This record gives sequence, C-alpha cells and structure tokens, in this order.
Amino acid sequence: MARYAYVNGRYVDHRDAHVHIEDRGYQLADGVYEVVGVRDGKLIDEVAHIDRLDRSLRELRIAWPLARRTLGFVTRELMRRNRLRDGLVYMQVTRGVARRDHAFPTTPVKPALVLTTKNTRHLGADPGPGVAVKSHPDIRWDRCDIKTVALLPNVLAKQAARESGAYEAWLVDDEGCVTEGASTNAWIVTPKDELVTRQSDNGILAGITRGTLKSIANALQLKFVERPFTLDEAKKAKEAFITSATSFVTPVVKIDGETVGDGKPGPTARRLREEYVRFAAAGEAVT
Ligand code: PLP
Repeated sequence: MARYAYVNGRYVDHRDAHVHIEDRGYQLADGVYEVVGVRDGKLIDEVAHIDRLDRSLRELRIAWPLARRTLGFVTRELMRRNRLRDGLVYMQVTRGVARRDHAFPTTPVKPALVLTTKNTRHLGADPGPGVAVKSHPDIRWDRCDIKTVALLPNVLAKQAARESGAYEAWLVDDEGCVTEGASTNAWIVTPKDELVTRQSDNGILAGITRGTLKSIANALQLKFVERPFTLDEAKKAKEAFITSATSFVTPVVKIDGETVGDGKPGPTARRLREEYVRFAAAGEAVT
C-alpha cells in the first residue's frame, strides 16, 4: 500500500515527499511541530494539540499555513489514505522558504506545512514491564515551553540514554532537579503518596498527556503537586513514570541503573494508564 505525506497542499507518495533546501526549518530550525496520538483510528486530545500548535506559532510569529478547520480535514484525509489505526500524526510548520538570513524574511513568505503518519503497535491498558531512564544534563534554551523543531539537545540526550541501554533520558537542571524527559514529561509518586510532576513554566514543554493526566488525577482525588523534584528524590520514590502522546503513561523502573520501588510498574502508574486508555478510547474514529 502506498504511504502518503501531505506537503504544502498536496498528498504525495511518502518516498517522493520533499521540501526546498532553503526551507527555514531545514536551515535554521525555524519551525514548530505537533505529534498527535492515534488509537483505534481516533485522534487523542486533538483540540489541545492544535491549541498548543497555535500557541507555538504565535510565540514565534509564524502565520497559520491554512485554516484551523482545514488542518482537521487534511489530517483526517491523510489518516484515511494511510489507513492509520494506531500510531501518530506528525505536523510541522516552518516559517517557509527564503534566502538564508537569520532575521525573518522581509517580504511575505508562505509558511510550509508537512504532515506524516506513523503506525505503531496498539497501546492498551497493560503498561508492560516498565522502562529504564538515564539522567543527562539539561543543556536546552530558556523557551522549552515552545514545541520547536530545534531538538538537538534532546537528540543527544536520547542517544546517550539509548547507548547506555535506557529507553529515555531524564534531563537534570543546575539545581539537580529533573525537568522532563527528552521527549516525555517526568512524574514520581513519593513515599507519602504524593503524585509529583514539575510545574509547567519555560523550563519544560507542557505536555498534552500531562494536562489530561492532571484532570484524571484530580478526578481520582489523588494528592497531586506540581513542583521541582531532584534526581535523588526520584530514585527514592515509590514509583516513577513518563507521559507523552505516543507512550501514554509508561512506568519507569530504573533510574541510572538504580531500581525504583520494587522494580515493577506501581499501582498509581497502572491506574493512570488504565484511565488514560479509557479517555483515548472516547473520541470519534476516522472512517
Ligand atoms: N516533553 C518534551 C520535551 C516532548 O518533546 C514531549 C513530546 O514530544 C513531551 C514532553 C510530552 O508531550 P505530549 O504529552 O504533548 O506528547
């Protein structure tokens, strides 16, 4: 079956999809993106993702490449063409194509839009055995709240984690606090049963999954606190886990080789994953 990408107004064979060499995303990482999870043919938390895309675009003063409603239509058409059931939709908007110059183009340039899809396995309520994470210095800039394609520090951290046999990197700031993962948000459950994740400010990306989990935690009347936590506190936590559009809620059972809790996914992470899957199953399927 042919796999399609959407590139600046056209559905093209994924193998032939390309952008111009002077696209500012390619040359200067001058662009933003979104990743929306798909489960059983349903987009998960679509409105929140598109709201965040809108915010990222506004922060960088990049115009919308098409109307918001049209993006919804194009996304569904690409999913239909690619028969996407489980996986993700990747959306990228860059400032567009212009002669290379750090400053914004002085003549109007049309922002460039690319959409692709990826199939992944079906994620269910069972979180599996959990994953290991490896700490890594957080060397990113001061606007981690914007979802830009400038991901080199995240790439290097993730690669270091993978080379050490871990699944994810946990980024640690100058105070020894875990900010977030290379592509996930980081959570712990303390010995006092407090569910903790770092407050969302410029130091982290306000994950959409994180936001939904906050509502779920409130509905379940869990003791939920947004505050910084150190790597040391995480290693001594009862439970730890990561969240993202594509990993849902995934328990962390090892941090830098040290076992978290009893080394198995804990009850809080299991419960939150179950509830998140229930939430993901609600939504409207794309036919
Ligand atoms: N933090 C970073 C740095 C990310 O790149 C991501 C997702 O890509 C997340 C957190 C999780 O965000 P979301 O739940 O919206 O996928």
